[in-house]
Amino acid sequence: MDKLVTIATFDFPAEAQTIKLLLEEQGIEVFLADDSLVGMNWFLANAVGGAKLRVLESYAERARQFVEEYRQTSRQSHEFELPAVDFDCEECGHALTFPGQRRGGVETCPHCNQYVDVPE
Ligand SMILES: [Zn+2]
Repeated sequence: MDKLVTIATFDFPAEAQTIKLLLEEQGIEVFLADDSLVGMNWFLANAVGGAKLRVLESYAERARQFVEEYRQTSRQSHEFELPAVDFDCEECGHALTFPGQRRGGVETCPHCNQYVDVPE
């Protein structure tokens, strides 16, 4: 009996769901862990390590490769569509930079740990 291995973690459950569907199309069974928790409290994603994507050990290598390729492709398209966003924290005034896909979201300031609204 194969055991389940975690091959990737995701900050965003939506991304994990997308990968899950793509892998299942290839006949690889996928199990998501911590998914609902992250969905309800997605700003806690880092605290719980994000949504974990698990597959049976015999598929792990294939699935890992697939995720790697998917991430490279999506990173390129994100960079193209959404340049990184720079702004100053409202609480402590530190200059912050977040990846473009965080635009319009809520992040935690690494300097004062307050929640900050990322501009669109
Ligand atoms: Zn701050």
